[in-house]
Amino acid sequence: MGRALSLSVVQWETIRKFPHPSGVTPNMAEYERERRSFSWDGAHQWLDGLPGGAGLNIAYEAVDRHAAGAISSKPALRWLRRGGDALDITYGELSERSSRFANALESLGLGAGERVFLLSPRSPDVFVAVLGTLKRRAVLCPVFAAFGPEPVRQRMELGSARVLVTTYDLYRRKVAKIRDRLPLLEHVLLSGDLSGRDLPAGTTALDTLLDAQPSGYRIAPTHPEEMALLHFTSGTTGTPKGAVHVHEAVVAHHATGLLALDLHPDDVFWCTADPGWVTGTSYGIISPLTCGVTSVVEDGEFEAERWYGILETMGVTVWYTSPTALRMLMQAGPEPARAHDLSRLRFIASVGEPLNPEVVVWARDTLGLPVHDNWWQTETGGIMIANYACMDIRPGSMGRPLPGVEAGVLLRDEHDRVVIGPDGAAREAGPGQDGELALRPGWPSMFRGYLGDEERYRAAFDGGWYLTGDLARRDGDGYFWFLGRGDDVIKSAGHLIGPFEVESTLLEHPSVAEAAVIGKPDPVAGEVVKAYVTLARGYAPDDELRLELLGFARSRLGATVAPREIEFDQHLPHTHSGKIVRRLLKERELHHPGLGSSGPGRGAHR
Ligand code: AMP
Repeated sequence: MGRALSLSVVQWETIRKFPHPSGVTPNMAEYERERRSFSWDGAHQWLDGLPGGAGLNIAYEAVDRHAAGAISSKPALRWLRRGGDALDITYGELSERSSRFANALESLGLGAGERVFLLSPRSPDVFVAVLGTLKRRAVLCPVFAAFGPEPVRQRMELGSARVLVTTYDLYRRKVAKIRDRLPLLEHVLLSGDLSGRDLPAGTTALDTLLDAQPSGYRIAPTHPEEMALLHFTSGTTGTPKGAVHVHEAVVAHHATGLLALDLHPDDVFWCTADPGWVTGTSYGIISPLTCGVTSVVEDGEFEAERWYGILETMGVTVWYTSPTALRMLMQAGPEPARAHDLSRLRFIASVGEPLNPEVVVWARDTLGLPVHDNWWQTETGGIMIANYACMDIRPGSMGRPLPGVEAGVLLRDEHDRVVIGPDGAAREAGPGQDGELALRPGWPSMFRGYLGDEERYRAAFDGGWYLTGDLARRDGDGYFWFLGRGDDVIKSAGHLIGPFEVESTLLEHPSVAEAAVIGKPDPVAGEVVKAYVTLARGYAPDDELRLELLGFARSRLGATVAPREIEFDQHLPHTHSGKIVRRLLKERELHHPGLGSSGPGRGAHR
């Protein structure tokens, strides 16, 4: 258990179930009762399925069935434009525009299973591209727009990108220079306002293409096990992993929208996650649409005053955000919160990184509502553990498993492997004991593989469980407490960063003989990326070289992934076999934090 970040499990005062003055009754009235009565087959029935029993398609459940029914003219999106005015886009309009996108893909010769990459900030076009891709039964692959050219290229190559949807600026800054290394990429569609700009060679204006398409599209029969989404995630070693998700996942997106986020038909929902990460797709796009609510869409940077303004003027009722963003609001002090009328807000949830108990209590006292933490990861496709509206909150706890999900804490041996008994079953830890957080396979949004890496996929399962790689503890009442990662992966402002990717880039610089990258604890971002660098002979460890290396990494990796800090060290710790022991560097950082300050970066999360 040596690897657990020692976040102590302090018992804060329980926050009793928090009724909202609006009197809204939670969708899940009582946790234990829901656990007993819930089944995934039952949750399947909450959706419509394609007409004529032609299968299950995420886009049909998200828009087309609503467009054909009673809420066709209800706003699906409330888009806050840069100038400050808001534009509503109805379910009917979104259905039509995404049908044009599906027709456009067909006209480009794109068939089922082929990959459409998305590199874009939040905008209605993102919804159109995601839904249109799914209607066409192609595979949607989102990539974080703050990545530098190298991580973008690597992911597009791994995913065999044929179509890319992006903006003019992002294309110029990140894609143009790597395009000749992506021979499979045939079509680049540029979204947004292109007036007054010359289209770069080899690109097409998305609006012009869509306007030329028919507005109706009949979704072909879709098997629930067809691949729908490819989400990239990082491990400790090797290249990024492409987690494969299928159309069946929509059953979990919908059920968790109702049960964990407590979405009701009249809600105005704001998910601050970036569309380049799994939360931005599962809960920024799919889940709220299947639940028929109105989503706020905006793409500005984090700024406390502006965010409170959005909550107030957009009339947000349910807000899904990140611990980093909440910590930044807390830092801004209580005044900006008090200057706004947040009385419509009735439920706040957060995800992606540990949520400090202080933040839960601060939110109750300052925003008038506690924060409901929940836990999941790219591979699980949807929320797995949560603090529900009907349940008391234990600040610092991730909550309890979703009805229909069995979570366990498994004992690990001295080599950090789960302990398997003679019967082949994994040994579970008792209440209060540390272990690896695991889930019993079988929920609908579970990933179905890592693209092209069957071995890595199989290694994620043992003793009848899916192993999450996180360390956790369960208390006597079944609440789960996050203890830390079981591996060296870094979480910075909610973004998962593989240290290997950063080390490999640093090693491309001639001055770097060896590099080790860790997450350095940070009060706002949770962790920031720090690199230890051993210099090649002939290079002096001075500030000039440090700045050069910081700039070198930033230009290739992008600001989110590049190290914030570099420390020169000619004696990095190694194992007998010569591997660098990042864990020792991390322990050093915990006990003797270096100087050097760092800001939290963007408030957006995965
Ligand atoms: P990602 O795959 O990028 O969504 O990152 C998933 C990882 O984020 C998990 O395996 C955890 O390490 C971390 N994480 C997600 N939610 C929480 C949470 N509520 N508390 C602590 N860590 C979390």
